[in-house]
Amino acid sequence: MKRIFLIMLCCATVLASVNYYAPAISSAASRDEEIQALKDKSAKLDLEIAKAQKRINELKDDKSNQKVLVDEYNAQLDALQEQIDVFDEKIKIQTGFANEIQAEITALNNQIAEIDAEIKIIDDAIAECEKNIEETYEILSRRLRAIYMNGESSEIEILLTADSLSTFLMRLELASGVARRDAETVNGLKDNIKMREEQIAGQKKAKADLETAKQTHSEKKKVHTDKITEIENEKTVVETHNAEFQKKLDAVSAELKKLESDSRYFENQISKWEDEKDKYADKIDDLLHNKASTIGSTPESTPASGLIWPLSPASDTYVSSGYRTSKRPNHTGVDLCYNGSSQGKKIIASGSGKVIEASYHGAYGNCMVIDHGNGLSTLYAHCSSFAKSVGSNVTKGETIAYIGSTGRSTGPHLHFEVRINTSGGIERKSPLNYVSK
Ligand SMILES: [Zn+2]
Repeated sequence: MKRIFLIMLCCATVLASVNYYAPAISSAASRDEEIQALKDKSAKLDLEIAKAQKRINELKDDKSNQKVLVDEYNAQLDALQEQIDVFDEKIKIQTGFANEIQAEITALNNQIAEIDAEIKIIDDAIAECEKNIEETYEILSRRLRAIYMNGESSEIEILLTADSLSTFLMRLELASGVARRDAETVNGLKDNIKMREEQIAGQKKAKADLETAKQTHSEKKKVHTDKITEIENEKTVVETHNAEFQKKLDAVSAELKKLESDSRYFENQISKWEDEKDKYADKIDDLLHNKASTIGSTPESTPASGLIWPLSPASDTYVSSGYRTSKRPNHTGVDLCYNGSSQGKKIIASGSGKVIEASYHGAYGNCMVIDHGNGLSTLYAHCSSFAKSVGSNVTKGETIAYIGSTGRSTGPHLHFEVRINTSGGIERKSPLNYVSK
């Protein structure tokens, strides 16, 4: 069913363009000249089409070269992107390490700060003790001077000439019991200072250990941050490559686009020229129809046809597309098929007469025209081959050609026309008014 529809559609389209009555019938000579001129024009277009096709093929080569580049650059970009991803992953890992170490460094810094605070407290305590010693010493000195002024002891002089506190204290102890209590106080303070100083030494040792640990950690961190910098530098190199390839890819993509647009231009040109050629072919077809009609004598009225169905046996055939002039696309004949396959099956002469056309042209493909006399002729189009040649006399019912799908046709069928030559030109009549199954 689908095939039949296609055939119908095909024929309708083909014949729409040739369905007009020919103008005043030209002489055979000038008609042949006109046909030749159209054939020349068509040949020129063939040359243009061949040139454009050559250009399209060249462009195709260029395009495939560009496509190779596009693929290559895309592959490079993919590979580079993979490398960048690897670098990112490495940076992430190194940053993780560095962050962990930083946390340890921060903890160490906190511990150092705590120790510094403790050292300060101890320092303050020492300062307090030293101040107490100083004050006690002052009081003691003043007291001794008062005793000396009153002339109470000659030993005081010895004490007062001591060049240091320790000498003073030693002499004081030896000299007299008067100031013993003060001396004990001073000694107590001195012990306190000593203890504090030992505490500070301990704290400073702890601080020094922490600072050593901090140093070690900082060095470790530096290894990781250096590594990050190194990876980032490598990444930058790859990113630069990436950018270069992206640029190259953009350039070839643009070139490819241009080539595609050029190809489209030439394809459009070809399609335009093909259309033009089709028009010439249609015109040639039309001029050939005139040929048929001019050979038969002009009838005074529509001749009685006596025509028969052009396929045999008729009972084994059907009409796949009818005659149509009322609405576009027009169809100036009927399309006939055999049940089942039509390809290569016989076409018979619808009436006796003379073969006046049997050649290939344009939309009709292999086309035969039989002149039955009195202005009546029949046309058989899309044939696969002919059984008769131009000039042959044929008898009604005789095999003249075989069904095919030549010319503008999508499936094997017979396009059959009945034409009457009138004083106004050629009329293509509805074949079913002349023949029946
Ligand atoms: Zn048709």
